[in-house]
Amino acid sequence: MQVRVLGAHNLETKETHHTCFLIDGVLAIDAGSLASTLGADEQRRVSAVLLTHLHFDHARDLPTLGLATIDEPTAIDVFSEQRTLDSVRAHLLDGEVYPDLTRGLNEGPPSFNFHALTEGERLSVLRYDVDPVRADHPVPTVGYIVSANGTRVGFSGDTGGKLLSFFTHERAPQVLFVDVTFPDRLAERARRSKHLTPSTLQRELAEALEAGVKLPRIVPVHRSLAHESEVLKELALVESALGVELEPGYENMVVA
Ligand SMILES: [Zn+2]
Ligand SMILES: [Zn+2]
Repeated sequence: MQVRVLGAHNLETKETHHTCFLIDGVLAIDAGSLASTLGADEQRRVSAVLLTHLHFDHARDLPTLGLATIDEPTAIDVFSEQRTLDSVRAHLLDGEVYPDLTRGLNEGPPSFNFHALTEGERLSVLRYDVDPVRADHPVPTVGYIVSANGTRVGFSGDTGGKLLSFFTHERAPQVLFVDVTFPDRLAERARRSKHLTPSTLQRELAEALEAGVKLPRIVPVHRSLAHESEVLKELALVESALGVELEPGYENMVVA
């Protein structure tokens, strides 16, 4: 399984993109930068999208992707909780700001088939097993563990904690992409918006280590662009404090 990091930040610029991942070129985790980082051919290869939640930075490129693939013979399968799918349809594909591509244009076939999932219930998507895991965020959010051929990769979604649910999962991931958005100086902002900082990540990892959990490879993403150097410095401090290795994710990083 090859995971390409399309975006590792919480803002879109020339160099940085919204947190978004593409597995083997066909299965996307979130859609925040699926159009802005992929060529037309690559967009047409995307067969399924697992949405973590409805926030704009995670759903933004769905409408563009849908229009770009309108003439493809097969619709793209989009999975998330019903509340998330309803909000995406109501706000992004509302038929006014953008066409409702779950119904198709001018009697044509739809670009998207929406599928509701339930946290805790495993599903099969393409050739992957997918376990949705509850995250801790102000709107309903699930992270995912995607498994194939003995490889298991986790995506925390936006979260203020609850990483133990991933570490102790029966299919605990070997790699976990984790939301670490703000530096410790902005702990209150992180607490209110439910994102991790290096210190809250440290607490989560320390608790797991104390519980005897074997930590996966941790790849922090979703960094706030304005505070990037501060976050990276603080992550290095977490590494020395805990004696663990953290590997901040970047655009175009490939994790195989
Ligand atoms: Zn969010
Ligand atoms: Zn986000």
